[in-house]
Amino acid sequence: MQTLWQPIQVLGIKEQDNRTILQVAIQAPKEDILRYSSNGILQGELKLDDGKLITAEQRKKIFVTIKDFSLYTGYDAEYARHLLTLAFCYENNIEPFSLSDCSLEIAREFISYLIEFFLDNDIPLSQTAIERTDDIGKYLYLCIKKSICCCCGKQGVVYSLSNDYKISLCNIHHDEAKIKGLQRFEMLYKVYGINIKDKSNP
Ligand SMILES: [Zn+2]
Repeated sequence: MQTLWQPIQVLGIKEQDNRTILQVAIQAPKEDILRYSSNGILQGELKLDDGKLITAEQRKKIFVTIKDFSLYTGYDAEYARHLLTLAFCYENNIEPFSLSDCSLEIAREFISYLIEFFLDNDIPLSQTAIERTDDIGKYLYLCIKKSICCCCGKQGVVYSLSNDYKISLCNIHHDEAKIKGLQRFEMLYKVYGINIKDKSNP
């Protein structure tokens, strides 16, 4: 599946039959956009930006993660930042951005991207991924996808809670959840079951 990720501007908005119709401007030629149509239908997700900028906490998380990458690879921190930013931009088809004034949403996506990249490549993080993430829902889903424990990052098993809710835990944390009770355990580790049906196309 190909995705186009572009900044948009909403030019018009009107309500019609319990739906809201948006007229959206995008900085791309029509033929580039039509490439994404399937059977004459263009569809995708729309993310609206509230104009909020990257927070100090997010910036700190990104820099600490880049430092981890730099320690692991031996690359200079500035080069490591450049490399990881470029890889993220390339994968998401977006323009390079600055960590001083990018949007909160881009920073959140970048942190999630870095965590997935680290997990995929077995690169150690200097703290647990759950402490490092800025998007807990996305991280919990990633743990289910990769069958790793959402509390400690070790090999886990995906457990069904109720309905379509699932959580991935290692033996130790699964036992702890059983002893403490799920509710107390979830509050302690700030984790929860994820509805897989909602995330079928993340
Ligand atoms: Zn665990």
